[in-house]
Amino acid sequence: MPLTQPPQPSTVGRFAPSPTGPLHFGSLVAAVGSYCLARRAGGRWLLRMEDLDTPRVVPGAADAILRTLQACGFTWDGEIVWQSRRLEAYQAALERLQEKQLVFPCGCSRQEIVASAPHAGDEGPVYSGTCRSGLPTGKQSRSVRLRVGGSTVCFRDGLFGPVEQDLVTAVGDFVLKRADGIFAYQLAVVVDDLESGVTQVVRGADLLSSTARQIYLYGCFDHAPPHYLHLPLALAPDGQKISKRHGAPSASAQDLQHWVRAAFDFLGQQLPGDLDSAPAEELLGWGSAHFDPGQVPLQAKTPGLAWEAP
Ligand code: GLU
Repeated sequence: MPLTQPPQPSTVGRFAPSPTGPLHFGSLVAAVGSYCLARRAGGRWLLRMEDLDTPRVVPGAADAILRTLQACGFTWDGEIVWQSRRLEAYQAALERLQEKQLVFPCGCSRQEIVASAPHAGDEGPVYSGTCRSGLPTGKQSRSVRLRVGGSTVCFRDGLFGPVEQDLVTAVGDFVLKRADGIFAYQLAVVVDDLESGVTQVVRGADLLSSTARQIYLYGCFDHAPPHYLHLPLALAPDGQKISKRHGAPSASAQDLQHWVRAAFDFLGQQLPGDLDSAPAEELLGWGSAHFDPGQVPLQAKTPGLAWEAP
């Protein structure tokens, strides 16, 4: 189903940054794309701070991200969801899967998995199933994994079109609770999107390879998945994925306008000439009425930005 037409006020989109640094250009693109597509449908846009992976969380980064979003003129619906405050929900979800015997404790270390992996999958070594039918004698439980099986996961991405992934050969039984006790991103994102009633997930193409796992989890919770649209990856001039080391906009209105304009440009949107010197907020207002996913290019590319961190 197309993500934009006709208007669907029941649409619920979201933006889910990880506070591992200030809002960088790649995240801004995801914010602009998800915001405009939700608003254009007449729907809601939620904000979630993915601060579960505490070793990677940078103090002050969440506040800096929120300040930048606010200064750009993004408005979100409802309360911000903080993943770090939802551990009980993730535990309850894990227990539901335990009751259905869909998860198992795993005692393998990373080294053992690498050593026993028959082949490399889409995301590193494929779990070979060592602890699938019970912890071998002498092994202590470290992580909790989801048992995967069944047929290939197929879905239609709003930009990339039909995508399929055979989880058994590409990933294997995957981790839902890590050896350090932290709930895995794959579990948290599905539990949160499901509980918040998210119907469309718009985010960077680096997460395209996680989508089959998430759709599989929706099935485990007896729920239909949302629609997905993955935006092209923003690359730094050296061809690497843009990250926080490539800088964030300063708080000046001019910088914010420049970055939001660059995000629209990156997403193939032709802003009208009379918005040439309009503030970021007005650009978002235009996008909420006119954003056209048909213009978004597929290719990862380097945006037209001044690369010195502003
Ligand atoms: N927190 C993830 C990130 O910042 C995004 C997760 C998602 O949109 O599903 O890359």
